[in-house]
Amino acid sequence: MVDAQARDEVVRFTSDLIRVDTTNRGGGDCRERPAAEYAAGLLAEAGIEPTLLERTPGRTNVVARIEGADPAADALLVHGHLDVVPAEAADWSVHPFSGEVRDGVVWGRGAVDMKNMDAMILAVLRLWARQGVRPRRDLVIAFTADEEASAEDGSGFLADRHPGLFEGCTEAVGESGAFTFHDGTGREIYPIAAGERGTGWLKLTARGRAGHGSKVNRENAVTRLAAAVTRIGEHAWPLRVTPTVRAALTELAALYGIETDLHDVAGPHDVDGLLEKLGPAAALVEATVRNSANPTMLDAGYKVNVIPGEAVAFVDGRYLAGCEDEFRATLDELTGPDVDWEFQHREVALQAPVDAPLFARMRAAVEEFAPEGHVVPYCMSGGTDAKQFSRLGITGYGFAPLKLPIGFDYQTLFHGVDERVPVEALHFGVHVLDRFLRTA
Ligand SMILES: [Zn+2]
Repeated sequence: MVDAQARDEVVRFTSDLIRVDTTNRGGGDCRERPAAEYAAGLLAEAGIEPTLLERTPGRTNVVARIEGADPAADALLVHGHLDVVPAEAADWSVHPFSGEVRDGVVWGRGAVDMKNMDAMILAVLRLWARQGVRPRRDLVIAFTADEEASAEDGSGFLADRHPGLFEGCTEAVGESGAFTFHDGTGREIYPIAAGERGTGWLKLTARGRAGHGSKVNRENAVTRLAAAVTRIGEHAWPLRVTPTVRAALTELAALYGIETDLHDVAGPHDVDGLLEKLGPAAALVEATVRNSANPTMLDAGYKVNVIPGEAVAFVDGRYLAGCEDEFRATLDELTGPDVDWEFQHREVALQAPVDAPLFARMRAAVEEFAPEGHVVPYCMSGGTDAKQFSRLGITGYGFAPLKLPIGFDYQTLFHGVDERVPVEALHFGVHVLDRFLRTA
């Protein structure tokens, strides 16, 4: 059972970790080492020997293994990242790196993404040390650097250079799952992630004939680029329902008493109609029933009366599992003959089985402490460290349990202003994580 010390510690650890500013501005501008040393110290106090690993000085990762009772069982990876996205103090009600606990709420950058989960993992492992608990299977714990940028100093580095630390791991749990989604009608839904869309950040380059802005020019690079960007931005991507999204839609339809047969999808209208009937809960699936490509940056020219020879744009593309080839072919078509495109950054799409015993155990752990809640699988629209660990053959799920009251919208708090987490939510998380990891 979770004791008073574990409940105190999860709050203190969340607050302490927030106070260690691990802002990741990208381009290598981040230092996770103090947070990594803090976490490693707490593990060492519990008799767990952590290994600290760096590709770049200051960009520290922590990995530890807790031996399970059943040596024949596969290992489970439990991971959380230590870095956070930037926060502009002037926009916040409290200082984003204060870690202040006020009226039962812990405030600060990382309160939900994801120093809360790091603190929960630490509190549970220390609880087990006090109580002599041993998990069924080996647990590999990883606190990573650089998740909020390229992961090259974090999970990517660990997967490439230290695969031996993850020996025997077949499954993983990490961020973005098992938080409360309020549907506005009093229902509480707990989505557990069983897949991620792939990432395709694209660079478009249009070439043309440079010249004077007052002359006739039918090979204007800016015009060519603008046309391609418009075609991409306005493209209606076709419906593609992956197994995880199908399971999500089926369970949500059942929850709302909507009759549907997704095994016989006649066309886009069925799913779009279903999404409409789901109301606010459609937010859990609507971004994952299609590939997407959003133009986000433009760069061309240097003077109003000079036509440049080249114009560049950037597009945030995402594709579902099994849909990457189609994504590429569509981009070839949309960009046309005068505009080249390339991946500036590419990450795989993930797909995890929702009928796995591990998923049932996650579901059971949430239902035990949130009996009024409804667990559903979902696919993440973006990506996490699970993509890097998938290279080691590890199937990743998003499971960082949090019971959030009405008014605490997870999606808004994530990377948002006034990111904060109720103390009660952290306590719930420790209970669920403890329950789940004992039985996983
Ligand atoms: Zn995160």
